[in-house]
Amino acid sequence: MLFSKFCETFDRIEATPSRLSSTDFLSKLFLETPASQIRRAVYFCQGRVAPEFEDIEVGIGDRIAEQTIARTAGVTVAKVQAEYRKRGDLGVAAAALLEKKAQTRLASEELTAQKVFESVSRMAQAAGTGSQERKIKILCELLSKSSGAEAKTLIRFCTDNMRIGIGEPTIIDALSFAVAGDKSLKPDIERAFNLSSDLGMVAEVLLSEGIGRIRAFKPIAGNPIRPALAERLESAEAIIEKLGECAVEGKYDGFRIQVHKDRAGKVRVYSRKQEPMTDMFPELVKAVATDVDAKEFILEGEAVGIDPKSGKILPFQVTVQRKRKHGIDELSRRIPLRLFCFEILFLDGRDMTYAPYRERHAMLEKTVSKSDRITVAEYKICKDAKTLQRYFEDALSRGLEGIIAKDLNAPYIAGARKFAWIKLKKSYQGALSDTVDVVIIGFYYGKGKRTKLGFGGLLTAVYDDEDDRFKSIARVGSGFSEEQMEQFSKMLGKIVVKEKPREVDALMEPDEWVAPKYVVEVNADEITKSPVHSAGRGIGADGEEVGLALRFPRMTAAGIRDKSPHDATTVNEIIELYEMQNRAKKHSRR
Ligand code: AMP
Repeated sequence: MLFSKFCETFDRIEATPSRLSSTDFLSKLFLETPASQIRRAVYFCQGRVAPEFEDIEVGIGDRIAEQTIARTAGVTVAKVQAEYRKRGDLGVAAAALLEKKAQTRLASEELTAQKVFESVSRMAQAAGTGSQERKIKILCELLSKSSGAEAKTLIRFCTDNMRIGIGEPTIIDALSFAVAGDKSLKPDIERAFNLSSDLGMVAEVLLSEGIGRIRAFKPIAGNPIRPALAERLESAEAIIEKLGECAVEGKYDGFRIQVHKDRAGKVRVYSRKQEPMTDMFPELVKAVATDVDAKEFILEGEAVGIDPKSGKILPFQVTVQRKRKHGIDELSRRIPLRLFCFEILFLDGRDMTYAPYRERHAMLEKTVSKSDRITVAEYKICKDAKTLQRYFEDALSRGLEGIIAKDLNAPYIAGARKFAWIKLKKSYQGALSDTVDVVIIGFYYGKGKRTKLGFGGLLTAVYDDEDDRFKSIARVGSGFSEEQMEQFSKMLGKIVVKEKPREVDALMEPDEWVAPKYVVEVNADEITKSPVHSAGRGIGADGEEVGLALRFPRMTAAGIRDKSPHDATTVNEIIELYEMQNRAKKHSRR
């Protein structure tokens, strides 16, 4: 299959604002892709060479890409940079500079998709001394055989700036269309993806073995499972009304992690964003050998720092210091972690995700011994609101963040926010009943002192999972320390884009747009209707078109969250929070 097919499809996707058309173009591309190539084709569409949890990247920055383009086109780096400035996109600049050269290419020299996939994998695998030069050589070879359009796609891919904004939901829809001609397979494909976090593998199984194998998909020790998420309700009464008798667990504030042990005995730890964290938490890896009675398993829980002297739980601000790659031994002595397990998802070949909570929990208690490093999260079965409220208040007094009530009969629903889990958190006076995780889509330079720091505030969005877009909800101007402002300025400066990204829907214009990448936790006084934001936009009672906005938003101490933009708070959650807030207001007026 020719690589030009991919480039043509991406160009068509870039040119259409319609998600439906993008899905259609992509599904046709998948249909034409041989089964042996589909895995890598899906990764390529995601801008990757492997699933995200493998942490393998091509690793070519703009500077290296500029050098490579200059070398291939036979021009100076300054000329490439000038072209980049003129076009605002290094891919387009490469296309313009290489177009002429490409016209002399013979038909027999056309790039195949296979050649490109193999080359980008080789680039990603290059490590150690001389690796940069090897990457340049491979990319030079590809560029010298590229047409303008191909060079554009290659450069965009290698510099991690695909600009087509295809998220996982669009790829899943496209796979369903490719196989069934409609969206009917979406729930099955989605489940397999939620269990494996590997869309390339799911596509390969689907296209080569059929939907039956997808429906029989089981967790795999080593592949992170996308986490189940909690809904919110405003009170103990509302929770009991929804669930009846339920299990109520303490809500710990640390890192949500999954611990995997495969049949060969290899232990791996993943963050809630499916990032590998095994090397960061050696004491937990070690404890698994003695404290978990199983050969092969997937456990989930919250890892929290413990004061080695008092044995008490440490606040999140202290625990978060463990998220470092250096000085781990010293840190693990100073802030040792304890894993409070709340789920067992896979046990010696058995898929536990289908089992009801009662059964999973019994198995969890049988499998995990209670040690200093690994233990089962505290819990209580509650039948009425009074008992639940008392347990909640007790949890707060012991320094927990609140409680999570769990439906005794529900399975583990990977990757989805459902009422099988309901959280109740301490409600701050005059604030929303929960924090909101927003995606940074732009920033402002600000005035006075802030101009010097190069940062004055954020333009943020929530995720609309129905149309795979980020919709603006708040301009956040407070809650930052000077140090954080400097950090934001540096971090965001690296992902500035010249125009509003395709996957962003916003009416406000920040000083700089950025690619949606970082998620921050914010608190606000309430949710209000607003004519300037796009989240939940619709026609209001007075016939005007309005969206929803956060009133007095401020970043919390948690700051940047360990979440990918697609896991940020969704538009539907904001609508629910808005309704919850209005119910609470009515209630207090009574
Ligand atoms: P939130 O991040 O506010 O949406 O709350 C959900 C998070 O609470 C989960 O992602 C976990 O990281 C954390 N958590 C703490 N304790 C528990 C528990 N017992 N069960 C489930 N999640 C918990």
